[in-house]
Amino acid sequence: MNSAIQPKYNMTLVTCACGNQFDTGSVKQDLRVEICSACHPFYTGRQKFMDAGGRVEKFKKKYGV
Ligand SMILES: [Zn+2]
Repeated sequence: MNSAIQPKYNMTLVTCACGNQFDTGSVKQDLRVEICSACHPFYTGRQKFMDAGGRVEKFKKKYGV
């Protein structure tokens, strides 16, 4: 095992302007983002909409409503 040949890659704490923090693999020391998948209107709206729709459909199928 020769660690010298391995790339410098570690977990980086990403801080979003919304306060959300998450770890990601990066060669950078730290990351700051103004928007993330947790607070982006497009992502949150789309995911909530699709997720809710999917759950409703599954619920209906499962219970035969
Ligand atoms: Zn965010």
